[in-house]
Amino acid sequence: MAKRNYYEVLGVDRDASEEEIKKAYRRLAMQYHPDRNPDNAKAEESFKEAKEAYEVLSDQEKRDAYDRFGHQGLDGMAGMGGAAGFGDIFSEIFGGGRARSNVYRGADLRYNLEISLEEAARGTETKIRIPTLETCETCDGSGTKPGTEPVSCPTCHGQGQVRIQQGFFSLQQTCPRCSGTGKIVRDPCNTCSGAGRVKKQKTLSVKIPAGVDEGDRIRLSGEGEAGVNGGPPGDLYVVVRLRPHPVFQREENDLHCEMPISFTVAALGGEIAIPTLDGSAKIKIPSETQSGKVFRLRGKGIKGVRGNVFGDLLCHVVVETPVNLTARQKELLLELEAINQEEVGRHNPKAKSWFEKVKEFFEG
Ligand SMILES: [Zn+2]
Ligand SMILES: [Zn+2]
Repeated sequence: MAKRNYYEVLGVDRDASEEEIKKAYRRLAMQYHPDRNPDNAKAEESFKEAKEAYEVLSDQEKRDAYDRFGHQGLDGMAGMGGAAGFGDIFSEIFGGGRARSNVYRGADLRYNLEISLEEAARGTETKIRIPTLETCETCDGSGTKPGTEPVSCPTCHGQGQVRIQQGFFSLQQTCPRCSGTGKIVRDPCNTCSGAGRVKKQKTLSVKIPAGVDEGDRIRLSGEGEAGVNGGPPGDLYVVVRLRPHPVFQREENDLHCEMPISFTVAALGGEIAIPTLDGSAKIKIPSETQSGKVFRLRGKGIKGVRGNVFGDLLCHVVVETPVNLTARQKELLLELEAINQEEVGRHNPKAKSWFEKVKEFFEG
């Protein structure tokens, strides 16, 4: 079955704001949530569809990709980013039911690491500094001043839940005062002001394996934000960005470069020194080489991050027309051209056959 357009799923315009998308999703999630539609496969399907659409459209990066390339634009992007936002909205709507203990896993963090093509090819180890939330050491994450205990929440009498009337429904909701923990902090910890977590900068050493490519992610398990109330920490994703290289363009594990050669070398042949990632190499240019010809140097590309396969280096010949000509050079070229013209079909066969086609075209 073809996937429905995400905007259609949520019933919003293509230029809908974040707020509108959130609202639309909240409405659908309320309507189709499995807790409210037990054993209703159709509702479950609609719920999943809405959830998927929301996960994409609420994440600016995924939304951009989707807007430009449709569903295909998201391949390989799944599984990150949107999840945190979804968690927030989920606990907002269904508050108590799910998160009664109020123990949360810490958020995943993402770090864009820019490296050079050489570093990507050989692998590298680098230190990164990231801002993160860590468990407060003073109170060990409890949020209370050492030596004191949290007290029972007076609003929900320690239940963590309150009942509220909404139309016909009576809803069980997370207690707003204690956020569902059933306890409140009377004497907050001075270090973290009762939050249990503190903002910190941490320095991490990251090993980048040889062969990584633009967009590859390296997961550092447990290096994300600290969890809440003893929840596990999130993960840190280091996303590889490749700095543009002055000579090479990378395509998968192949490298491409443009190789300008002079008109004379193209005609007479010669040897050209070209750079590779491990020193320079020589290419023999045969005589009568045309612009656009590609020379492939096997195994001179990048070794893939998976498997042991080396890519190739592909050198694309560009014949450079000489510029800033002196009178003498012009004279010689004119002389050359005059000789060429005596037997055009022999010296410039492409030009000749092209002119003939053009002529046929105009004469019908
Ligand atoms: Zn503290
Ligand atoms: Zn309470």
